[in-house]
Amino acid sequence: MENLDWKNLSFGYIKTDYNIRCFYKDGKWGELIVSDSEYIDIHIAATALHYGQEAFEGLKAYMGKDGRIRLFRWEENARRLAYSAEGIKMEAFPVEKFREAVFRIVQLNRRFIPPYGTGATLYIRPLLLGSGAEVGVRPSAEYVFIVFVTPVGPYFKGGIRPVDMLICRDYDRAAPKGTGTFKVGGNYAASLRAGMDAKEKGYASTIFLDAKEKKYIDECGPANFFGIRDNTYVTPKSESILKSITNMSLIELAQNLGIKTERRQIPVEELAEFSEAGACGTAAVISPIGKIFDPERNITYEYCRDGNPGPVTLKLYNKLTAIQFGDADDEFGWISVVE
Ligand SMILES: *Cc1c(COP(=O)(O)O)cnc(C)c1O
Repeated sequence: MENLDWKNLSFGYIKTDYNIRCFYKDGKWGELIVSDSEYIDIHIAATALHYGQEAFEGLKAYMGKDGRIRLFRWEENARRLAYSAEGIKMEAFPVEKFREAVFRIVQLNRRFIPPYGTGATLYIRPLLLGSGAEVGVRPSAEYVFIVFVTPVGPYFKGGIRPVDMLICRDYDRAAPKGTGTFKVGGNYAASLRAGMDAKEKGYASTIFLDAKEKKYIDECGPANFFGIRDNTYVTPKSESILKSITNMSLIELAQNLGIKTERRQIPVEELAEFSEAGACGTAAVISPIGKIFDPERNITYEYCRDGNPGPVTLKLYNKLTAIQFGDADDEFGWISVVE
């Protein structure tokens, strides 16, 4: 095993041994190619570089107490990458090839999988980009699929902690019939001004509102939003948010734990009705929200007044992470073991 300071890993990039690439050319995907270089050669007129034809995914490999390596719902990531590809007119990467690439990259970089008990994981980053030369605005005829990994620390060192968020009305991330439901780099470029603005003001992240009416909650930068009221898990229904696999999973867990669930529009004022709120995604699983500030109305919505996450948030977080690390039974069939 690699000699890294596993307990103090950040959510950054650390070089590992190998990555995998696959090229689409002349109307077909080639073989997976294992590389130890961190660079790719790309045409200066590649559509990814000037027209943003790029999509990505994010998932993790978890080391269990039993020494087995687990992946969480990788098929959902494979399917979502194909959905994103179609959304920006790229050639989809076949699900079976995705499986092969992801399993292989984990096996090849086995020594970088953080030990059980550190809370750290091996983050897996697949990406797909248009690599063919075009100057006119049209989809590329050539694509590259890449998957690399990097060990990442637990998002919250020493247990989950509430973070504060800022409601954003000055910028939009995605329009209702735009690209918000696709996991594409362009949405992230579009979110940077809002994200930096929130950070400069001392908030962990932005909460975007729906771009059209600015009445409803959309999502929290790179994570979905949920609120808890009257033993109900409520999460936004919107045409401009990414369908988080973590959120889908929390909904199933909640139902299984006897918590009601609703996916519907959430008006900003409803923030006053929630007893708990959180942001969810693969990176942090759940970031409990301590406070949300609405600058226009000059209102602060407060949750977790004692500095701890609320009971429903904690229950969901503990259950989901227990399944991911293999401490709880995989009763939903979400886990694949990498041999
Ligand atoms: C990736 C992502 C999420 C979280 O999705 P998960 O599948 O749970 O990791 C949420 N919002 C946006 C905008 C994202 O890109």
